[in-house]
Amino acid sequence: MSTENKYVYFFGDGQADGNTTMKNLLGGKGANLAEMTNIGLPVPSGFTLTTEVCNYFTDNNNTYPAELRDQVAEAMKSVEKVMGAEFGSTTNPLLLSCRSGARESMPGMMDTVLNIGLNDETVVGLAEQAGNEAFAWDSYRRFIQMYGGVVLDMKPKKKEDEDYFEGILHAKKEAAGVKFDSDLSAEQLKELVAEYKACVKKVTGVDFPTDPMEQVWGAIGAVFGSWSNDRAVVYRRDYGIPHSWGTATNVQAMVYGNLGEDCATGVGLTRDCSLGEPGFCGDFLVNAQGEDVVAGIRTPLRIEKELGEIMPESYEQLKNIGTTLEQHYKEVQDIEFTVQRGRIWMLQTRNAKRTGFAAVRIAVDLVNEGLITPKEALQARRIPADDLNQLLQPIFDPAAKTKADEEGNLLTTGINAGPGAATGQICFHAVDAEARFEEDPNVELILVRRETSPEDLRGMRVAKGILTAFGGASSHAALVSRQMGKVCIVGCSALNIDYNAATMTVGDTVLKEGDWISVDGFTGEVFAGRIDTKPSEIIEVLIHKTKKPEDSEPFQRYSQLMEWVDEHRTMAVRTNADQPDQALQAVSFGAEGIGLCRTEHMFFEHLDEIREMILAGSDEERKAAVDKLLPFQREDFAGLFRAMAGRPVTIRLLDPPLHEFLSEHHLHEQPELGQKLADMINVDIATIERRVEELKEMNPMLGHRGCRLGIVYPEITAMQARAIFEAACEVQQEGIEVNPEVMIPLAGFLTEYAHQEAIVRKEAKVVFEEKGVEVKFMVGTMIEVPRAALCADQIATKAEFFSFGTNDLTQTALGMSRDDYGGFINDYLDNDIIPADPFQTIDQDGVGRLMEIGVKGGRSSNGDLKIGICGEHGGDPASVMFCHRTGLNYVSCSPYRVPIARLAAAQAAMED
Ligand code: PEP
Ligand code: MG
Repeated sequence: MSTENKYVYFFGDGQADGNTTMKNLLGGKGANLAEMTNIGLPVPSGFTLTTEVCNYFTDNNNTYPAELRDQVAEAMKSVEKVMGAEFGSTTNPLLLSCRSGARESMPGMMDTVLNIGLNDETVVGLAEQAGNEAFAWDSYRRFIQMYGGVVLDMKPKKKEDEDYFEGILHAKKEAAGVKFDSDLSAEQLKELVAEYKACVKKVTGVDFPTDPMEQVWGAIGAVFGSWSNDRAVVYRRDYGIPHSWGTATNVQAMVYGNLGEDCATGVGLTRDCSLGEPGFCGDFLVNAQGEDVVAGIRTPLRIEKELGEIMPESYEQLKNIGTTLEQHYKEVQDIEFTVQRGRIWMLQTRNAKRTGFAAVRIAVDLVNEGLITPKEALQARRIPADDLNQLLQPIFDPAAKTKADEEGNLLTTGINAGPGAATGQICFHAVDAEARFEEDPNVELILVRRETSPEDLRGMRVAKGILTAFGGASSHAALVSRQMGKVCIVGCSALNIDYNAATMTVGDTVLKEGDWISVDGFTGEVFAGRIDTKPSEIIEVLIHKTKKPEDSEPFQRYSQLMEWVDEHRTMAVRTNADQPDQALQAVSFGAEGIGLCRTEHMFFEHLDEIREMILAGSDEERKAAVDKLLPFQREDFAGLFRAMAGRPVTIRLLDPPLHEFLSEHHLHEQPELGQKLADMINVDIATIERRVEELKEMNPMLGHRGCRLGIVYPEITAMQARAIFEAACEVQQEGIEVNPEVMIPLAGFLTEYAHQEAIVRKEAKVVFEEKGVEVKFMVGTMIEVPRAALCADQIATKAEFFSFGTNDLTQTALGMSRDDYGGFINDYLDNDIIPADPFQTIDQDGVGRLMEIGVKGGRSSNGDLKIGICGEHGGDPASVMFCHRTGLNYVSCSPYRVPIARLAAAQAAMED
């Protein structure tokens, strides 16, 4: 058989067709099942249908390549041989599982079917083989339930719908007077199977399939189909996973954790992935099937606490397997295992998802343990740059928390599954959370559920925190929220949630939908009411200086990591800041300069003066008004120069349309304003209204703004230049180095730039002569309209630096208003018209190409041209990496994103 047409990869008995490098073809699960088989770990035999089959299936109307059936039949024979059982046999039946496995794990987003091969005959064989009739019939009823839901589309469709099978099961347990499924007798389970089958017939109109081969193909089709289900599509969009990858499907011999008290099933981590503490940990359930652990139906036991007592040998074996896996993969592993009659079987291993907290701790610890190098610790797959955000997450203000405790507001404690502190209004349904978020993006919600399922993904995304009554640290709620960096508490068994009444009861306290609660994801505590949050330890050390570095381990690890980051990156990171306090914060975060000071933000403090300037009737009047602004601007700039102590400070001249300072809207909102302005400049109110009317523009973003203001009102440019240079002289005379860079906004023509540059240089000369001081400075321009990028070679004949204003460059390149795109962007994303919000992450094909042209053109005229970016994209990891590849000298972003940009810059440099 040629490899080109090989669609099925077998694994079993110490030998596998695949290995861990083949994730693209075999998916993560398939590749690692093969790898574990190859390194001699106990893996039930099976085979993987490749991602190519999935793509074929999707593209060809849910059909398969012609070769597939034969290849599956052949692999099935090999599995039968290794497992010593036969698929469909009534005396020695082999049962199979069918599970999805994409290149990147997508926890719980796709489907699984277990116990395939059961029917009224094989179930008898299974009962005899296992010596346990109740087990066999329980497996059968689970199979019908899963197959019904996944393959026969019998899952609830609306939030009010009850699951057919759950309803029948619940009624059966009530009638039998038992609490758990495992308490049902073989007879009762047989009845349940009959009732389930009748339900299938009633709902679907056809009999439940009895042919094992038909069952397995049904399951394979459903798993491949689940690649295209809504939640999987949404998840891929969120995590940037291409739809074209497809999933693999793994068909594998079943092993049983539910044969009795010497059996168990669990999910484990080779070290904790919430805070990153070392040591094997996880959840397990005695006498249960794997799904029971992740579904969060029963609250599991902790491996690190209880497995050693209950099954000491298995515990030792598991820890050894954990060590083998960590040494082999050099990475924390998230594993699934089953203990069948005292023997461990491995069902999965993968690199564990972790919080940003854990990511940093684990990477630093692995270096210190000698397992990886500092360079490896910085890999994006170990610490996605955005995850550093979580280290800068708020925690509860300890005093406010103690007060809440003393006031008796502590309701209960659950499992601390996602760190951070969150406060918000109770919301019981994911769809409602989404709707409320759409109404008000600032709404603070805590999603409270009995348990969560992947269908809740959209709602979880908009909630500040997630709280569930059931489930363990590896339940879907925990996994998904950890990855999102959400505060999450699970397994909070004291919670009694009544969806119909929309209430949550703990003891005597009844809280309604909309009431406030606060959740501490570090400790698992749940409080009634709001509790103020406070910044992270890193913030306390770096920004508030309320904690000493030596008293904070998380800070020490952060700082060790950031040292490695700075050793590996080549691109500088600056910040966008307009005030000295912001600038100082950014320096603490590692900013090496200011890449953008928006001078207009300073003007908002001096609205009277700027309005006087706008309303001026003549050049003289305008000059007089502008001069009033001079001392304020000078003071502001001096503050920035002092804070930055010699680091470069890029100051952009006035940019926004003047109507932002004065418009009809302002006159309308503040009825007394018109008269106040009239009195201020000694004119009548009609003159004010006329001037405001004259200022009105149909399309202000493309109107009189940017350097167009300075060209029409050169006195504004002159005043700003004077303020910059006077401040620079003053601070330099104080003995502090200064490094001003004056930036012209929105220029598209060399002549626009040259016009403004001449004013700036002239003013510099005058100020230096007046003060008898010389300050070195640069003049450059923003590149934020397509013409500037296209004509960069011309502009760079004069400009000493460029800074890409990708907010406006995106707006003008896409012809998409940065203020109005909110109305349609979600439809663009939901319909895959564009892969990401172009105002958050650079549209590399379009805007990116303009940037490349700009860099090439600029450097063709001036080989030393310094080039940066100061649009919001400067703090977005993917955009930072693009900037590195494009040859920029620096990125500039908001202060809190500086550490993220530094890490992303290092990750980009490591790709070279
Ligand atoms: C830009 O356009 O990217 C930019 C930084 O300027 P502003 O956002 O102030 O228009
Ligand atoms: Mg701009």
